[in-house]
Amino acid sequence: MELSQSGLKKNINFIRKKLSEGTRLSCVVKANAYGHGIPQIVTMLGKVGVDHISVASAYEAEEVLEFRKAGTDIMIMGILYDNDIEWAIAHDIEFYVFNYERLKLVLEKAKKLNRKAKVHIEVETGTNRTGMTEEYFKKALTFLKRNNEHITFQGLCTHLGGAESLSSTFRTEQQKERYKNYLAECKKRKYMPVTRHIACSASALVMPETHYDMVRVGVATYGFWPSPDVYYQHLQSVSKMKDTPMSRIITWKSDIMDIKHVPKGDFIGYGTAFQATHDMDIAVIPVGYCNGYPRGQSNRGYVLINGRKARITGLINMNLFMVDIGDIPNVNTGDEVVLLGKQKNNTINVSSFTNYTQLLNNEMLSRLPTAIPRKIVR
Ligand SMILES: *Cc1c(COP(=O)(O)O)cnc(C)c1O
Repeated sequence: MELSQSGLKKNINFIRKKLSEGTRLSCVVKANAYGHGIPQIVTMLGKVGVDHISVASAYEAEEVLEFRKAGTDIMIMGILYDNDIEWAIAHDIEFYVFNYERLKLVLEKAKKLNRKAKVHIEVETGTNRTGMTEEYFKKALTFLKRNNEHITFQGLCTHLGGAESLSSTFRTEQQKERYKNYLAECKKRKYMPVTRHIACSASALVMPETHYDMVRVGVATYGFWPSPDVYYQHLQSVSKMKDTPMSRIITWKSDIMDIKHVPKGDFIGYGTAFQATHDMDIAVIPVGYCNGYPRGQSNRGYVLINGRKARITGLINMNLFMVDIGDIPNVNTGDEVVLLGKQKNNTINVSSFTNYTQLLNNEMLSRLPTAIPRKIVR
């Protein structure tokens, strides 16, 4: 896998231009940076000056801690077991609290360490995932104010349940209104969070009123539009029919392991999924579903060889699959095969993996095994 530093820079510049004055950018690197690789992406983000990074779990935070540029803040958006709270406080890692009882444990640990805990209170606004309801939030606010020597009220946050889809606008509007009620409660009590944040990629790109003090941008960091709706809204805002302000930063490559001739009528690979309709030349690629290559691509997908598309023949096996190279001249063992990304004038997009199947872009990417070697390129 190759990861493009210039591609990332382009995406970050574009996202920054969309942000409001004073809004901080936090890049989300959960699920091994959406499959791209936490060590590489965190290193690359350090080079473009992103100084806040969000993760889903303490496990991921630990990896970010190892690769972050000094001074970069880390925030855990939820998955933190009781056993790890002390570790998070000791390393100055910010974390979500969505359960009132949890605050008591945080206080106990902060006192024990004699170090302030940085807590983001997540509130329920209508996604009904995690988040405190108003009743508990009021109690939490009292608790935070009373214990402000030991706990910093670092953030007040929520997550939108459909910002990428225009048909969910009614829902997003409702969530925005509910969030304002929580803020009003803070104002009434004269106890404000350091950071107000509710936006993901979709709302960061097209809903300036959701920017507040910080946005949590995941999928756009990697150069993907969250949805066709968001792309369309962007086009309208710049009065263009077409625009490519972001770049995919991932390229996934392999090479040809063997080449062989298959006589007409023979089957290729397991079962009877593919029968040669004519004398064929095929190449064997040492990649399979164990490497995160979706089995749904069987008899359907393409790879790039010499800049040309080669169709997959038969089933994706655990470690191998075969492609038809009959139309491509001068193919040799060891030649580069592009599974995802650009080769000469052709490109294979993640959407070519997901258009025909139920697989989501994020799903396909986030399943790419950590064991695949990843290299930062210019
Ligand atoms: C994943 C996630 C994000 C980022 O979402 P994108 O749509 O990828 O930008 C933001 N906030 C929370 C709480 C998340 O879980």
